[in-house]
Parts: sequence; C-alpha cells; structure tokens
Amino acid sequence: MDFTISPEMEALRLKVRDFIAAEVIPLEADPASYNEFENIKMSLLDEVRTKARAAGLWAPQMPKSRGGLELPIAGWAVFYEEAARSIFGPSALNCQAPDDGNMSVLNKVLGSDDLKDKWLQPIIDGDVRSAFVMTEPAPGSGSDPGGMMLTTAERKNDRYVISGTKWFISGAAQASHFILVARTSDDPRRGLTAFMFHKDDPGWRIVRRVGIMGPEEHGGTCELEFDGLEIPMEHRLMEEGDGLRLTQIRLGPARLTHCMRWLGHAKRCMEIAGEYVNHREAFGSKLAERESIQIMLGEVAADIHIGRLLTMHAAWKLDTGDKAQKEVSMAKIHVADVLHKASDTGIQLCGAKGYSKDTILEWIYRYARCARLVDGASEVHKMVLARHYGKLGNDFWSWG
Ligand SMILES: Cc1cc2nc3c(=O)[nH]c(=O)nc-3n(C[C@H](O)[C@H](O)[C@H](O)COP(=O)(O)OP(=O)(O)OC[C@H]3O[C@@H](n4cnc5c(N)ncnc54)[C@H](O)[C@@H]3O)c2cc1C
Repeated sequence: MDFTISPEMEALRLKVRDFIAAEVIPLEADPASYNEFENIKMSLLDEVRTKARAAGLWAPQMPKSRGGLELPIAGWAVFYEEAARSIFGPSALNCQAPDDGNMSVLNKVLGSDDLKDKWLQPIIDGDVRSAFVMTEPAPGSGSDPGGMMLTTAERKNDRYVISGTKWFISGAAQASHFILVARTSDDPRRGLTAFMFHKDDPGWRIVRRVGIMGPEEHGGTCELEFDGLEIPMEHRLMEEGDGLRLTQIRLGPARLTHCMRWLGHAKRCMEIAGEYVNHREAFGSKLAERESIQIMLGEVAADIHIGRLLTMHAAWKLDTGDKAQKEVSMAKIHVADVLHKASDTGIQLCGAKGYSKDTILEWIYRYARCARLVDGASEVHKMVLARHYGKLGNDFWSWG
C-alpha cells in the first residue's frame, strides 16, 4: 500500500491551496460578498470563476477534451478537500453539488457527443446550472425511491408525460438542465426511469423555495410541480427501467465528493479554532497549553484523518472499477459526523466568537446538520452496511 500522491498531484494541490488563499478566502471574509441566502453573490462568483479557469483549476472531474482536468477519483479527493478550505471554494472551481454529481453521471450515461454538447458542456463551461430531481414529500419517495416514488412518466407515442410533485431539489431556482427520476412501471427493481428536461419546457413549475436552517446552494432547495411536462424519447437517460441504476451511478461518487468537501470544511474548523486557542489567554496560560483543549483538538484531528482514509480508500476502489458501495457508505456516515463535530468543537473552543458571524464556524455548523440527511440518511447507510455484513460475514473487511 502506497499512500503518497504523485508529484503532479501534489503540485496541483498546492496550486489549489494558493488560489483559495489568495482569491477566495478574502471574499468569504467580507460580509458584503454574501447574498440573502448566505452564499457568494453571483457577480463575485462569476469573477472568481473566470480567474479559476484562467489558472487551470476548473472542473477536475471532467475530461480534458471538454475543458476539465480529468483527474482520477483519488485525485478529486485531494483537489476537493483543498478547494473546500473555503465555503465558496467548490463553487469557484466548479466542483460543487449538485452540478458536480450531475456532470459526472451525464458524462457516463449520455450516449452521443451531440447529447453531451447539449446537456453536459454548458454545465462544464459554467454557463448553466443543473439540478437532480428525485425526492418527493411524504407519502412519496425519500429514503426509499424504488418502493415509494409517486411521480409518473406515462408513455404516449414518442413522448413521456410527467405528473407529480418533488421537493428539496437543490439549485432548482437557478438551474436550466434538470435530471428527473419518475415512475414508468410498478416493477420493484425496474420501475423508475431517468430523463433530461430544460427549464423552459412547459408543463412544470416551481411551487416554492423551501426555507431551510442552513445556508443555501445557489437556486435554493425547491418544491416542483409537474402537470403534463412532455419529454421526447431522445431525452430519456439510459433505458426505460434504468432510473434506479442511474441513481446509483450518480450517487456513489457524488456521496463521496460530499465527503471530500466536508473534510476540507472540517479542517478549516480546526484551523480557526487552533489559531484562537494559540493566542487566547485565560487563567494565566494560553488555552492551547491546557490538556483538556489539546484532547478536544486531538480527537477532531484523528477523526478527520479517519474520514480521509475512508474517503481515499473508497475513491481508490471506485478508480479500480469497483462500485465501493459499503466503502462509500462508511465514509458518508463517518464524515457527516466529523463535519458536525469539527464545527461544534470549533465553536466551543472559540467561545462567544465561535457563536458570532465573525468566523464561518456557525455557517458550517448549520450547514453540517444536513450532512446526515442528504444522499441517504446515516441510518439508511447503516442498514445497507448490515446487509453487506449479512452477505459477506468476516469478508466484509477483506482488502481484496
Ligand atoms: C439540504 C438538502 C438538499 C437536498 N437536495 C436534494 C436534491 O437536490 N435532489 C433530491 O432529489 N433530493 C434532495 N434532498 C433530499 C434528500 O436526499 C432526502 O432528504 C433523503 O433522501 C431522505 O429522505 P426524506 O427526507 O424523505 O426522509 P425519510 O425517508 O422521510 O426518512 C426520515 C428519517 O427516517 C429515518 N429512516 C429512514 N429510513 C430508515 C431505515 N430504513 N432505517 C432506519 N431509519 C430510517 C432516517 O433518520 C431519516 O432521516 C435534499 C435534502 C436536503 C436536506
């Protein structure tokens, strides 16, 4: 086992680090950079994105022929973690959710260059945003999309007609390109099908932007109503009945890229807290000199590193062609907890300053709460792990 990264990857990591420090952190530190939804203003994002592209730090997950860096997934782990030292970093370098996962799945499943030119290239170029439309309000599809999806795609000649309601769709209010998953039959394994549609297609609307406790992606998290949207056959993704498969193709790497970004945020929490305790005096010594403080920092440092190992191992497995389902689930469960713990510890160690908006700790703390819910609640990932264990027994832990 060799845990070193190549000299080229290390050089790229340092380049990302320097770019984030010089171009992105200063924006994050200025309250005037934020829009009403606590994200970077679009005008500033456009400027910093232009600089990122000029610096060659753009779309690390996409092929070089389409303007990306074509890194292996283990390379994403290095790049994304460094980008996510800033809360604005992933958006600045075009590796933020949901565009990131949408680009990856479209690159894999779109069947022709013409379709990629139409649906994928504008997202890579940063000209449009995208959204992934699956979750429904109860009693519809949430943790169990295969069993409970109510939105239907009814086939009429060469079109599908969509009816139903979706919600919590990240980015929908700004997106142009939508990936939709809907029911085409009652088959328990092959009942769902995926499609593309464009924001200007008639037959759907945004009902509302759902208010949430944390900062919002550009375009919010929205409730959508479909009332006769017509999708031509050629905009179906994969075959009829492959909707669940497409979801798995998307969510494996997409869940892991969440972990990569969350680790960057968690490291930043340590950085902010470390700086505070190194300078702050109380009861005759620096806070950093107290063992109880050292234990708190040491625990988070170890937890972050466990998260990095889980994430890198899963990335390596994905790079070898393995689906890495249990490895991705373990990383997702652990890193979601680490993000929460790192931001919580950071706030505690910084005292009142940690609770203020003078640092980004409180932003990350509120954001962290969704990590245990999105792309599969932690309990569901644990259920999946138990199923793997039930099948594999002690081979669950095999290295092969
Ligand atoms: C900020 C945010 C952004 C999101 N963005 C998107 C998006 O862009 N597109 C999209 O389609 N969806 C999106 N989602 C939805 C997200 O994927 C769902 O919230 C998630 O799949 C869980 O579904 P649910 O909310 O319906 O929870 P439910 O299915 O109602 O489950 C509720 C709770 O029950 C527990 N639970 C469920 N099943 C089990 C089980 N088998 N065993 C034990 N406990 C269980 C879990 O604790 C779970 O949190 C987003 C959600 C959030 C919070």
